[in-house]
Amino acid sequence: MEERSRHALIEKAACDHWLTREELSALLADEEAEKELAAAADRVRRAYVGDEVHLRGLIEFSSYCRQNCLYCGLRRDNKNAERYRLSPEAIVVLAKKAKAAGYPTVVMQSGEDAWFTAERLVDIVREVKTLGLTLTLSIGERTADEYRALREAGADRFLLRIETTDRELYERLDPGMSFDNRVRCLADLKALGYEVGTGCLVGLPGQTVDSLAQDILFFREIDADMVGIGPLVPNGETPLGNEPPGDMRLVRRVVSAIRLLLPEANIPATTAMETLQPGAREIMLQSGANVMMPNVTEGEARKKYALYPGKACVADTPEHCRACMEGRIRAMGRTVGTGAGGRRRNN
Ligand code: SAH
Ligand code: SF4
Repeated sequence: MEERSRHALIEKAACDHWLTREELSALLADEEAEKELAAAADRVRRAYVGDEVHLRGLIEFSSYCRQNCLYCGLRRDNKNAERYRLSPEAIVVLAKKAKAAGYPTVVMQSGEDAWFTAERLVDIVREVKTLGLTLTLSIGERTADEYRALREAGADRFLLRIETTDRELYERLDPGMSFDNRVRCLADLKALGYEVGTGCLVGLPGQTVDSLAQDILFFREIDADMVGIGPLVPNGETPLGNEPPGDMRLVRRVVSAIRLLLPEANIPATTAMETLQPGAREIMLQSGANVMMPNVTEGEARKKYALYPGKACVADTPEHCRACMEGRIRAMGRTVGTGAGGRRRNN
């Protein structure tokens, strides 16, 4: 793209928070747009959500999964995965530790594990909520009634990535799952008053920049409160093991474009990014992102929750992570968020 038209497009996105699919595709395809996009996104981030970086303590409570996503190490056909399931008591203990370590929010994430019935989860949610934490669930697809029961028990937020808005690609990579049901889940969660996080993978085989542009417009259309992007980290235990990893420069352009189009959203610098490129979390925090999700799972479970190999910081302790993150945030001239860090609404 010519420098003048690139500049005009980025300024338009930073002002109007809107681009057409064609315009977005053109920016995402333009490798030379990276720096200017990131600078504009950093400006918009500061204006809309400020300098605070919000930390969410991540509890990975079960690695059992009934689904079979082609990219993921927890897929049910991965016979080499060592499975574990934390007891409800152990989950509550981790939440207490996260609270004591100064995390205002915890995220409970797992594979789609049927052992955790809505009833069992409701009890855990109630217990965790008595600690005064903001609670996010990331447990995959459930019925509207189950989402309602968990919301009534006190769950505040829910993370469910759409993964890709290319329906055909989605259904090929997530065999047995339906794109319509994924969208239904997101609509139910919104209607129930959850703060809803979604997002996509970057680097899926067959995925195009145009499809990523469509993903970003989808996030805007459903008014996502949080958007998490993961570069594909090929996992040798999965059918996508020989694919090339997601292109981190494209990931950066996607993160920046999301900030421009969804200025109020919470956008995490994710572990998958750091795994592919050490130091990526800082780069992303200066390219539109404002959230980090340090792991507070301990010991063996932390190693066995292997969505992808080489997960950054897998050998660290939760205390170490908290201190390390705080140091990195301060070094960038930013501050650690003190409140719940919910989605801000400026109008
Ligand atoms: N089972 C739940 C939550 C756990 S999976 C769910 O699927 O929603 C959380 C996320 O991990 C998924 O949304 C997916 O985007 C990401 N993930 C899985 N395998 C990955 C890989 N190989 N590389 C990068 N991200 C991956
Ligand atoms: Fe299960 Fe989630 Fe992995 Fe899919 S991405 S296999 S649903 S843990």
